[in-house]
Amino acid sequence: MPAHSTELFARACRLIPGGVNSPVRAFRGLGREPFFVERAAGAHIWDVDGNKYIDYVGTWGPAILGHAPAVVIEAVRDAAGRGVSFGIPNPLEVEMAELICGWVPSIEKVRMVNSGTEATMSCVRLARGFTGRDKIIKFEGCYHGHVDSLLVHAGSGALTHGQPDSAGVPEAFAGLTIALPFNNIEAVRKTFRANPGEIAAIILEPIPANAGLYFPRPGFLAALREECTRDGALLIFDEVMTGFRVARGGAQEVYGVRPDLTALGKVIGGGLPVGAFGGRAEIMDQLSPLGPVYQAGTLSGNPLAMAAGLAQLRELERIDGWKTLETLGAQLEQATRDAIGETKTPAVFHRIGSMFCLFFTDGPVTDLAGARRSNLEKFARFFSHCLEAGVYFAPSQFETGFISTAHRPDEIEETARVVREALAQLSR
Ligand SMILES: *Cc1c(COP(=O)(O)O)cnc(C)c1O
Repeated sequence: MPAHSTELFARACRLIPGGVNSPVRAFRGLGREPFFVERAAGAHIWDVDGNKYIDYVGTWGPAILGHAPAVVIEAVRDAAGRGVSFGIPNPLEVEMAELICGWVPSIEKVRMVNSGTEATMSCVRLARGFTGRDKIIKFEGCYHGHVDSLLVHAGSGALTHGQPDSAGVPEAFAGLTIALPFNNIEAVRKTFRANPGEIAAIILEPIPANAGLYFPRPGFLAALREECTRDGALLIFDEVMTGFRVARGGAQEVYGVRPDLTALGKVIGGGLPVGAFGGRAEIMDQLSPLGPVYQAGTLSGNPLAMAAGLAQLRELERIDGWKTLETLGAQLEQATRDAIGETKTPAVFHRIGSMFCLFFTDGPVTDLAGARRSNLEKFARFFSHCLEAGVYFAPSQFETGFISTAHRPDEIEETARVVREALAQLSR
């Protein structure tokens, strides 16, 4: 007899801390236990207890074509038949580099890694090596993976589980990271004035999506660009989530701002463990073996991962997936706004393309402080209602939802019905 989620979770908790291999998967903040997935296809996941859900987590972003798209599965099968790892250059790495540099004009040279964390970590080291400076500016609520110097006022699971400043990060590292409120250009200017010629880089999610989802004010990203250029600091866009998702060329294409370095991940790997970082050739050429900044990876540019990523990205372009995602996103937005209005729920709905977030606050939400005004108890009840009705949203107020091209209009409609019902229950 197949194991059930409750039994698997009990077994997992004995051997895996918290029963999960990444804290965002725990439902602790909601007073629940996670379910275990048996399989996933298209817009749906099935748990080991036989429940079926419409999925809006999409493996936290990578599944932009939905789960197990045929083109990706075939590409992985085909690549696996020729060997799963070489540790020697393979042609797919070159194809991937050509695709990335072709789609994201600020990226003149690129290197592949195995996760978003590795990508941001490498960007920070490279920025320090290139500028010869140590200090980094980040923004409160932005999450850049579990990099020591970036786990300061961090978002995502670190925020959800109450550890935005992680234990185990030496004060000497954290002290080099200056965390500022997002959308506050005056705070950035003041920091540059107080630390002239000492800031190596500003790193940010151009569209912050790890403390819920909110947006840069008009001109904010351009002003960051200006400040960095003036001081000789580098501008790093962490597009691990937004890259290839909000547009073919990411958030930098949407906002028309050119960073010096970009971190990529999630969608780029088609569900396999992949990240990448790239930018100006002059900076990238500081990497070993050309330059003095060391960075490496046994499995980087892995043929399976490259095959999966290339297949997913090419399919996305072939079907003009971004157009489909915008249409589906607009449908969900309209229906959710109607439901908020009908039920008179104090809530704010944010969306860009296929990324969305429903904050249980009157708003506005333009930074972490705004996001934190959300009513977490209401979120927990909303989440549970939706889950029990077969709709799986991210298990935290401080995460973003994702639509895939495999979501059909009738599934969005069904989702909207469940959302309306959940909001109606909250107002009772
Ligand atoms: C997910 C994420 C990361 C970390 O990527 P991992 O692959 O989980 O290491 C970094 N930055 C942003 C913006 C992310 O959303």
